Amino acid sequence: MFTRCLVCHTPFPANEELERYATGTRIAYDPVRGRLWSVCRSCKRWSLAPIEERWEALEEIEKLVTDRAKLLSQTDNIALLRAGHLDIIKVGRANLTEEAWWRYGRELTARRERHQKMTFIGTAAAGAAIAGGLLTGGSAWLAAWFLWDNAPDKVADFARWIRFGSTAWYGHEICQRCGFVFRAVDYKRRAGLILLPSQENGTLGLTLRCPKCGEYRAGEGGLHLTGREGEQTVRRVLAYHHHAGATDKKVRSATRLIEEAGSAQDLSRIVVKQGRRLGDLQRTGAIALEIAVNEAAEQRLLELEVSCLEAHWRAEEELASIIDGELTPLPLLDHLRRKATGQA
Ligand SMILES: [Zn+2]
Ligand SMILES: [Zn+2]
Repeated sequence: MFTRCLVCHTPFPANEELERYATGTRIAYDPVRGRLWSVCRSCKRWSLAPIEERWEALEEIEKLVTDRAKLLSQTDNIALLRAGHLDIIKVGRANLTEEAWWRYGRELTARRERHQKMTFIGTAAAGAAIAGGLLTGGSAWLAAWFLWDNAPDKVADFARWIRFGSTAWYGHEICQRCGFVFRAVDYKRRAGLILLPSQENGTLGLTLRCPKCGEYRAGEGGLHLTGREGEQTVRRVLAYHHHAGATDKKVRSATRLIEEAGSAQDLSRIVVKQGRRLGDLQRTGAIALEIAVNEAAEQRLLELEVSCLEAHWRAEEELASIIDGELTPLPLLDHLRRKATGQA
């Protein structure tokens, strides 16, 4: 069995999802033609597995796809799926509906774990300071006691500052009514930010009331961030807002909300209506919104990726048909094909 990319010789990391084919964390297969490749993360080229290694591997992969894989995106010819840490490119269409919210949901629960670890480190550090303070006595002990109460939050706040900084948006926009110049939007003022659907493409945008004249209506005054700029700022602000992450339960109710709404765009319309202050949003609604806006953005990236994969597949399939045709006796290939399509 090969363990390195046949083109650039980068080693394939082993996957834990397949017993019979552990070569690589991104694989591609064609159940109809009986092909199996490992996809190199470094040079993007596909290494065709030796034919004798495909037999049982293809069966196992097909079973994994049916039982556990989630569909990320697909074209008419290629489906990109994920099972655990394994990316699977299936030639042909997958009989699944696309569901992407679970990926971002996982990001939120992972964030919660990190945050809890962070507050734990804060508590441990404060504990150590108290123990030290007890030995030296006096005011050090008082300072340590103060730390005990505040350190967990301070450590988490510091981590948030490292990751996000303090400003969600920089720019130069002028209030139409009074001429006030907006140069930045601080995360600190996020509760007052008004979220609203952009007119053009249904993505979310942001509005901020003018601190000088108080105007915020579109066409009158205030700051209005729309289109790409607006959407990216909304994503940053929501991620900052939910820096502590969310429990599994919360993520589940948030995703139920998205499912009931039907799509990310519909959810945005339901949750923010014609415009709502971030500070007024219910927590579940706000989390659903963060999942939905990220899902929509990620879906666009995935569509791009899967169309690139399709181009790769065309080239690699051409090569594979030559290799298989020249090197493999036809009866063996036929047998494999029948086996893979379940006609054996
Ligand atoms: Zn390579
Ligand atoms: Zn103004």
